[in-house]
Amino acid sequence: MRRTLVDVALEASTCTKCRLATTRTQVVFGVGNADADLLFIGEAPGMHEDKQGEPFVGAAGQLLTRMLGEIGLTREQVYIANILKCRPPGNRDPQDDEIETCTPWLVEQMSLIQPDVIVTLGNFATKFVLQTQTGITRMRGSVYPWHGRKVIPTFHPAAVLRGGEKGRQFVELQEDFALIKRTLTGPEPAPPPPPVTSLIELERTVAEPATVPDDQLELF
Ligand code: URA
Repeated sequence: MRRTLVDVALEASTCTKCRLATTRTQVVFGVGNADADLLFIGEAPGMHEDKQGEPFVGAAGQLLTRMLGEIGLTREQVYIANILKCRPPGNRDPQDDEIETCTPWLVEQMSLIQPDVIVTLGNFATKFVLQTQTGITRMRGSVYPWHGRKVIPTFHPAAVLRGGEKGRQFVELQEDFALIKRTLTGPEPAPPPPPVTSLIELERTVAEPATVPDDQLELF
């Protein structure tokens, strides 16, 4: 029988495949709708996430929740996960061998959730998913096709917080969330034909088709 996300989370909760198992409080597997169209991938749990066992619950998480609200979504409608499932001590950067050891959990999450759109938050997630060395500042603002899905890289909310609400990154984060919304909802439907202002006008059009006077036919 096929494993569910709950099965995978249970197995991951006792993972000891890398050194982070010795310093974590608990594994932070992921949270949200197991059938979500939209998956967010961050970097690694911080202090609050390590304590509470849920990704993006600190200040960066509050900004993420707010941005979701701005495009009419709740945390319960999407799925939120990280590259690393355990907190690196002192919030240091993830190390290459930790990413290599941990990302099979993320790959399994992606293949079970099957999201249409994946949003990578910051450099680590973007580089891992799109296998690029290009930095987030150049990658953001675009939609990248990826194995039949769409990837939208944007800034990590923690980086945006450092620049404040008046910073350029804040505006660009908002632009990227508007792009996420457009990508999820698809292209705008074609505008409806102009209304027939009155039935009489419609009947006249049908009854009296426009005729071109004979002397103008040669113009066509
Ligand atoms: N930053 C992340 O990348 N992930 C979290 O879960 C929290 C902060």
